[in-house]
Amino acid sequence: MLIPEDVLQAKIRELAAQIDEDYAGQDLLLVAVLKGAVMVMADLARALHSHVSVDFMAVSSYGSGTKSSGVVRILKDLDTDISGRHVLIVEDIVDSGLTLSWLIDNLRTRQPASLEVCTILRKPDAVKAELDVRYVGFDIPNEFVVGYGLDYAEKYRNLPFVGTLAPHVYGS
Ligand code: 5GP
Ligand code: MG
Ligand code: MG
Repeated sequence: MLIPEDVLQAKIRELAAQIDEDYAGQDLLLVAVLKGAVMVMADLARALHSHVSVDFMAVSSYGSGTKSSGVVRILKDLDTDISGRHVLIVEDIVDSGLTLSWLIDNLRTRQPASLEVCTILRKPDAVKAELDVRYVGFDIPNEFVVGYGLDYAEKYRNLPFVGTLAPHVYGS
C-alpha cells in the first residue's frame, strides 16, 4: 500500500476546492484519457461544486512494453468541440510525460480558451520533462504502481487505493 483510500479522497477534495476557486464563474470541460484516468475523473467531477462537462479520449501509444514512446494514435476522439472552451486534462499518472505532451500539443491545435492539467500521481521523470502540470496530487517514487485506475495487464484498476506490486506477481 502506497496511498490509502482516505488519503486519496482527501487529496481529491483538496484539488477540487482549488479548481473550483480557479475556475469560478467559468464553464469548465474535464477531459480524461481512457482507461487509467476514469477513477480520478469520477471522483474529481463529483467533488467539484461547479458545473462541469466531461469528455473522454481513447488513444493507443506505441512503445516497448512498459515505456511509452510518445507516438500516439487516437482510437476515440472527443465528442466536444473544445475551441474557445476552458479545458482541464485529468490524468492518473505522469511518468515520462510523453503521452501528456502529445495530448497537450494535439488539444492546443483546437484552440481552447485555456488548457491545464490535473494529475493525481506524478513520478520523478515527469519533473525533467518540464511539463506545466498545474494540479498535482502526489509526487511518488519511481516504482510501478497499480490501483485507482492503474493496471498491470488490465488488472487492479478497481482497487480503491494505490499500491506497488509484490515481486511474486511479476515473477509468475
Ligand atoms: P508517460 O507517457 O507519462 O510515460 O506514461 C503515462 C502512462 O503510462 C500512464 O497514463 C499509465 O497508463 C502508464 N504508467 C506510467 N507509470 C505507471 C505506473 O507506475 N503504473 C501503471 N500501472 N501505469 C503507469
Ligand atoms: Mg493516463
Ligand atoms: Mg496501462
